[in-house]
Amino acid sequence: MLCLKTERTKKAKAPVCIACGEATTNGRYVTGVGYICNQCYGQKSYDFSDFSEKGKPGKLASFGFEVEVDPCLSKHYTLLKHGFVPTYDGSVEMEFKSPIYYSKSGLQIVLDTMSIFASDIVSTHIHFECVDKDLAISNWKPIWIPIANYLYEREDLTRKIFGRFFSSRWCSKYVTIDERYTAFNIATKYDTWELRLPRFRSPDQFSKLIDWGRRVSQRLTLTDPDKARMGIIRDFNKIFGTEVPIDLH
Ligand SMILES: [Zn+2]
Repeated sequence: MLCLKTERTKKAKAPVCIACGEATTNGRYVTGVGYICNQCYGQKSYDFSDFSEKGKPGKLASFGFEVEVDPCLSKHYTLLKHGFVPTYDGSVEMEFKSPIYYSKSGLQIVLDTMSIFASDIVSTHIHFECVDKDLAISNWKPIWIPIANYLYEREDLTRKIFGRFFSSRWCSKYVTIDERYTAFNIATKYDTWELRLPRFRSPDQFSKLIDWGRRVSQRLTLTDPDKARMGIIRDFNKIFGTEVPIDLH
């Protein structure tokens, strides 16, 4: 009898995981974040694709992002409260992958959370839905080469908007259709394209990048690459308040 009573008391006291809500003793307390069960805490493989979805499909492209962080710190585990998944990739030590967002609703609290540890974020790649990937691939180079060249010549502007500059290894200015580590990447496994250049600096900066990227997805459905590029630059100027020449080539 005494034994049963102890058992029951133990169970009632099991802490609740901040991510999945399960009460279990199989986990750990993460400083400044809370209790996380081992299942949620463990890093998943980079190919993990069972993401939760937020919002309902609408006119604009869905999106999701990866937050690459300094693994020595713990604050970023707060993202687990918002449906993020910790993953491991050979190229980086730790990356948190967001749910798939169909709208920006529910995003503000996540961006506010990220601003708490903004200085520990290494990069923040954003994936956007791409409805006609074949078309996007065939137009990729004429669309992006002039834009990438323009930004590459303007480091201050690029840093201001994207939060960092091109790097030859993980985020090159080279525009290609089959290389993944490029600033504007179409070599993704899904019907998406990826903006690899961003580094999160503030909720406002990041929110604007999402707005622009979703518009880019719409422009990618145009058959004429010149028209698509001009539209992309027009949207860029409108959203970021810049004066990039529309007729870049
Ligand atoms: Zn859990």
